[in-house]
Amino acid sequence: MSSGLWYDVSAPRYEAKKAKSIIHPFAVKGYTGMTVNPYQGCQHRCAYCYATYEWSPEFYDKVYAKSNAPEVLEKELQSWKASTINPMMVASATDAYQPAELRYGLTRKCVQVLQKYNVPYYVFTKSTIIERDLELHRRYARNCLVIWSITTANEKIRRIVEPGTPPAERIFAVIKKFTDAGVPCGINVDPIMPLVTDTDEELGAVVDRCKEAGVKYVFGAMLRMRDDIWDRMKLALRLLQVPDGERRYRQIYEIKEELSADAKQKYIACNKEYGKRVTDRLHEIIKSRGLCPDFPDHVRPQDIDRSCTGQMTMLSFVHRDI
Ligand code: SF4
Repeated sequence: MSSGLWYDVSAPRYEAKKAKSIIHPFAVKGYTGMTVNPYQGCQHRCAYCYATYEWSPEFYDKVYAKSNAPEVLEKELQSWKASTINPMMVASATDAYQPAELRYGLTRKCVQVLQKYNVPYYVFTKSTIIERDLELHRRYARNCLVIWSITTANEKIRRIVEPGTPPAERIFAVIKKFTDAGVPCGINVDPIMPLVTDTDEELGAVVDRCKEAGVKYVFGAMLRMRDDIWDRMKLALRLLQVPDGERRYRQIYEIKEELSADAKQKYIACNKEYGKRVTDRLHEIIKSRGLCPDFPDHVRPQDIDRSCTGQMTMLSFVHRDI
């Protein structure tokens, strides 16, 4: 992938392909779980994206739709060995509600399968397209959580670091509809980018919008660095005209020279003291607005329900336009 082209705003190419399996384990910062990714690649083009390595070199430019994802998911749930199932993340390595969803509808079908089997789930998104499925998630509110990943309320910053995402104002308008409808929502301010989004002003602006949108749970984490992310962030810092940005990032992430080959795919946390100062400040800001700086815990493991396996046959997943 050319590190210089993430901010391209041209639409990606779409291609349908078959998946052999769809439920996969994942581990992030000591948290392990299971995830469903109906797509591979992502049109949102975030400069800091952690998923760019795991998938294809054309991550931003070519989006694969796993056209049989709902059927494979249903098969995997039918043959699930345990009687209980942990919450499923939708999705860990793509935005399941990116524009491709309007064409393929795979996320909606996967969510319907999860609901049918009584599987608890978290949706992670920064899209407004999820509004189409508001009613679907609302009916399952006791067993789901929509987490919106919002890094900035500043349009100048968003246009550079996340050029394929909708403006924060539009996202917050959709979030308000979800909270008004009683869908549990959280905001993940992640990643917090040093020197870009880590000031009181920037963090406060996001948290204020969360409060206005009726969100109770807000949390966040500092950007972790990796060699390809570093390439993109260097360019982002220049485009954002952060004074002396590259040198200061080298200090904050203790990057001596270029990242060596054996550092590839490894994450580098920012300086502990720096990171703690920022995340402590975020907690204070969240609490000062009367919000909760924790992950809500109503989404818990559930007994898997196979009692209605005959009611939704594979034929109900015939795809119309792929
Ligand atoms: S929305 Fe998520 S998966 Fe998509 S580019 Fe941004 S960080 Fe990566």
